[in-house]
Amino acid sequence: MPAATHCPYCALQCAMTLVPNPQGPAPVRVEPRMFPTNRGGLCTKGWTSAELLTTPDRLTSPLIREQGGLRPATWDEALGRIAAQLRAIRREDGPDAVAVFGGGGLTNEKAYLLGKFARLALGTSRIDYNGRFCMASAAAAGNRAFGIDRGLPFPVDDLDGADAILLLGSNVAATMPPLLSHLAGARAEGGLIVVDPRRSQTAQLTADGAGLHLQPAPGTDLVVLLGLTHIVLAEDLADLDYLAARTVGVEEVRRSVAAWWPERVQAATGVPVALLRATARTLAASRNAFILTGRGVEQHVDGTDTVTAAINLALVLGLPGTPGSGYGTLTGQGNGQGGREHGQKCDQLPGYRRIADPAHRTAVAAVWGVDPAILPGPGVPAVELLGLLGARGGVRALLVHGANVVVSGPDVARTRAGLAALDLLVVCDFVLSETAALADVVLPVTQWAEEEGTMTNLEGRIIRRRRALDPPDGVRSELEILADLAARLDAPSVWPTDPAEVFAELARASAGGLADYSGLSHELLDAQLDEGIAAHWPYPIGSTGTPRLFLERFGHADGRARLVAVRPRELDRDDAGATPASRAVGQGEPSADLTLITGRLLEHYQSGAQSRRVPELSAAQPRARAELHPATAARLRIAEGDPIVLRNGRGAVRAVALLAERIRMDTVFLPFHFPDEECANLLTAAVVDPVSGMPEFKRTAVTVTRERSS
Ligand code: SF4
Repeated sequence: MPAATHCPYCALQCAMTLVPNPQGPAPVRVEPRMFPTNRGGLCTKGWTSAELLTTPDRLTSPLIREQGGLRPATWDEALGRIAAQLRAIRREDGPDAVAVFGGGGLTNEKAYLLGKFARLALGTSRIDYNGRFCMASAAAAGNRAFGIDRGLPFPVDDLDGADAILLLGSNVAATMPPLLSHLAGARAEGGLIVVDPRRSQTAQLTADGAGLHLQPAPGTDLVVLLGLTHIVLAEDLADLDYLAARTVGVEEVRRSVAAWWPERVQAATGVPVALLRATARTLAASRNAFILTGRGVEQHVDGTDTVTAAINLALVLGLPGTPGSGYGTLTGQGNGQGGREHGQKCDQLPGYRRIADPAHRTAVAAVWGVDPAILPGPGVPAVELLGLLGARGGVRALLVHGANVVVSGPDVARTRAGLAALDLLVVCDFVLSETAALADVVLPVTQWAEEEGTMTNLEGRIIRRRRALDPPDGVRSELEILADLAARLDAPSVWPTDPAEVFAELARASAGGLADYSGLSHELLDAQLDEGIAAHWPYPIGSTGTPRLFLERFGHADGRARLVAVRPRELDRDDAGATPASRAVGQGEPSADLTLITGRLLEHYQSGAQSRRVPELSAAQPRARAELHPATAARLRIAEGDPIVLRNGRGAVRAVALLAERIRMDTVFLPFHFPDEECANLLTAAVVDPVSGMPEFKRTAVTVTRERSS
């Protein structure tokens, strides 16, 4: 039977049908399906996704480390060993000696059950997930401004009617190509404005009168946004009626941007005054306008403040909550939205409830049938959690689900050292990822087309993932694994393994929370194909979904949005004329002279653990290529295709030189999809945004040299 499902990769969650293909190289073939986000389109990753199902190194048996190697084991032996070690560690050092690391690609059902497992079966506060590397600062800024964090508080196809779209730090032409069709209206009006230090594939779409490209120095996005807000207010372009009726805080913001006159912003960022003015005026003159942010401006130590500055700009223009306009963030991971709603975050319970709030604890504990007093308190965010691995009084055992932290996390050498110091590392995966290869116990799990479940896409729309074929013998769903371990650990509550039952429990646990799923069920979602139902949360019982938030009121108790004055932290101690390199993390190392920004390629997804196993994708992008401006390369005596080394105090990374005039001369771009000696995150630092815990991935000081031949 053909199965109507969605792509296993990014948050656009393009719709596809998996059709049985008994004669073909893969057991099913992919046919694109009409859906509001992708309109029948797929990118190369989606088209080739069925090949993941036949990857030759698929794990089909648990593995246990013995004498330095991994050997096959039975499920009973593997789970028995895990349970025994967890019991011993908890007895000796308490429940917080055990930690859980989750992922933004897990289904809602898995993410929910993982959070419940950590709190009830392990009793630990120490759970967090890789969304902390992805969405955390935008989520924090959304909560701060609107009182609710939903990536896009409007359907994607609202973008079609825009005259102007300001796209900050997102190369959607590479990361979400089907989304481009939604930008066509703004391009036709000359209103697509892209902010990116590279003239990326998306920035190139602004050519020939289709829009503007602002190319600031890495890490100066916040200053650009302060400057744009300054112009809007100084030139009387603000929507004063909207500000008076729907917001608070504009006078503080007016004062905070007063000194960011355009010439000063140009000096700090490199963006010409004329472009700044043209951007502000284009947005203000548009009937329908949107401001969208992506990882480029969010993955900074000031990421929350930078997104806050983007929201401030949107608010002074009167965009959020106005039909046909708005602000949103383009969520990255497949279930980056749902993955952060159901309890994987260290401070949250299902439904976006706060774990420190007594009423929220009571509500969730009632669904779980336990005393709220047994729920642990807030834990620590991901980078801090990884820093506790193997430390005195820290974490002795770690369970990893849906994450490949030795490729995707910052300062990989630090994480590797932490993992090596653990007494027990358990990794659930369907292949031996780089993190799984370090584990003491590896548990083989089902993958996307072999399981039922739900995902929540970048619009906050809940969609069905459907099973198209049986999993291979020997693998299990994480739902079964968690239920089995919960029983072995004598955990309270019930532990369903059927995804529809888990969803029903999740829906009950979310009832009354901000991300309320209580009116939804697998049955309801199955009654119509996904495109037939506006299943955007909040979806309480009796609802018909909420495609557009904020039309009447924002999420704060008074219904008003908050403008919050922010300022660039480094520039507190410096003059606005600071150079980009002097602002890079790690500056002060003797010869660091370029700023590294990490990012994504069309052919790969996140740590590459999946896409590097798809022959067509791997053949197209087999190695890490570092993008340098030709003038920079000439100065460093580097030619196209040369082997090069990027280096700083944390490590050295090998890559191949790719010369391109589209990048600034002070910047080098390196994709982060590659492991081992090509792993970009050997260079990034474990420094974080104090508000959200987001690490700095876009502003790292490095030297670049041609690799000497031996
Ligand atoms: Fe669509 Fe993203 Fe999948 Fe590409 S990777 S097909 S853009 S969901």
